Amino acid sequence: MRRHRNVKIVATLGPASSTYEMIRALFEAGADVFRLNMSHGTHDEQRARHSIIRQVEADTGRPIAILADLQGPKLRVGVFANPSEELVEGAAFRLDLSAAPGDANRVNLPHPEIFAALEPGTSLLINDGKIRLKVEDCGKDFASCTVTVGGTISNRKGVNVPDVVLPVAALSEKDKDDLEFACELGVDWLALSFVQRPEDVIEARVLAKGRAAILSKIEKPAAVKAYDAILQVSDGIMVARGDLGVELPVYSVPPIQKRLVRGARAAAKPVIVATQMLESMIEAPVPTRAEVSDVATAIYEGADAVMLSAESAAGKYPIEAVTTMNNVAMSVEKDPTYRSVIEASRVVRRESIADGIVAAAREIAEATNIKAICCFSQSGNTASLVARERPHVPILALTPLMSTARRMALTWGAHCVITEPQERFKGAVLAAVRAARDGGFATDEDQIVVTAGVPFNVKGTTNILRVAPCDERLISRVDPE
Ligand code: ATP
Ligand code: MG
Ligand code: MG
Repeated sequence: MRRHRNVKIVATLGPASSTYEMIRALFEAGADVFRLNMSHGTHDEQRARHSIIRQVEADTGRPIAILADLQGPKLRVGVFANPSEELVEGAAFRLDLSAAPGDANRVNLPHPEIFAALEPGTSLLINDGKIRLKVEDCGKDFASCTVTVGGTISNRKGVNVPDVVLPVAALSEKDKDDLEFACELGVDWLALSFVQRPEDVIEARVLAKGRAAILSKIEKPAAVKAYDAILQVSDGIMVARGDLGVELPVYSVPPIQKRLVRGARAAAKPVIVATQMLESMIEAPVPTRAEVSDVATAIYEGADAVMLSAESAAGKYPIEAVTTMNNVAMSVEKDPTYRSVIEASRVVRRESIADGIVAAAREIAEATNIKAICCFSQSGNTASLVARERPHVPILALTPLMSTARRMALTWGAHCVITEPQERFKGAVLAAVRAARDGGFATDEDQIVVTAGVPFNVKGTTNILRVAPCDERLISRVDPE
């Protein structure tokens, strides 16, 4: 089974998407990566979703990435007695330290450190800024507020206090606990919320001990400033527009998105554009024109992946949302303008032998009717470099490591195939040709480009490029061992 697009789709799982049938349907509709949001739900619920995803993976034979999103030092309200409450403009609403379930007049805000930092007049933004409160009076365990922008509030909605610098650590005790849980479960990516400094990423990397790749969510002004340094120590990036658009003026988000995507592409690290992509599909089976255009924009920018949050986690139309993203992707990617935009924004970096080989592979594919670029990759590094070229032909990433194949599910264009470990170049070419034919990428009459590193199984040795016929009899005749 193959996708007929290059951009990847990340779908957040939640109450609306927890059964085998639903997760399988989301995968079949186009989800390549599933996100488990550690801010919501219990470890038991996450464990159950994880095992269903692995079952879907086994049943469909396609590697699937699982991304565990750590809450980070995000402030959240507690829980409500009812499923939700309406806060109306002008009404009074109180935040306090009492753990009792909330109602239309008050709710728990379990963060004593915020009460200490608040002052009358401070604005509090709830649920990605949809609701606004103004502090009228406050003490060490409460804040009495007026609702200045009303809306629906429910369990554990996020709270931002953009005017106040809060003294909080990058990884809370809960995050460390969730990180260990997620790594033991066997997730492929860890997303870190509210990263501010490269040290925050390094701290998580030390705890992860290589068990998962680390993706930094850029959602703080400090992270935007320190982006280059954060990118350097991260394996991937998320443009986390929800909090970004609250912490900074919402108009600054599109230029920041462009800059972050471009930087990650240059570094050959996957970048996800996230939040409110198809927000209206939480309630409606069809998107707005503006949402379709937003998804399309991220794809034209060359993002590796676009993401669904509440649309797939808690919305009424999870499958329709994934289908919409898939359809937008196919429509954009067949537009001739898309190719010219992607080519114009290609980052040329020629610092290593591997850089030269992947560029040559792409150029050969452009000049001839090569059907695919097949690369052997242990760590996924070479496949990422091929993806950086954003070639117009499919990328087959061949690896003996399931962990690499799963991580690469997030990478633009990468179709991962697990192969036997290779000892000899001839065997590798045969494996590539078979993978290309079996996956429906090429027939006997076609040719493919194969890149590999000889000797095999040594990291960072990509040094061979071969144009191979897909007819095995021809390979046997001409290829040296
Ligand atoms: P983040 O800041 O990490 O994006 P979020 O609260 O915005 O956190 P999303 O995963 O982006 O969460 O959106 C999912 C929405 O679905 C949330 O607003 C939440 O109310 C709802 N939801 C409820 N239960 C879950 C769950 N178990 N997993 C994910 N989302 C859930
Ligand atoms: Mg967030
Ligand atoms: Mg969100």
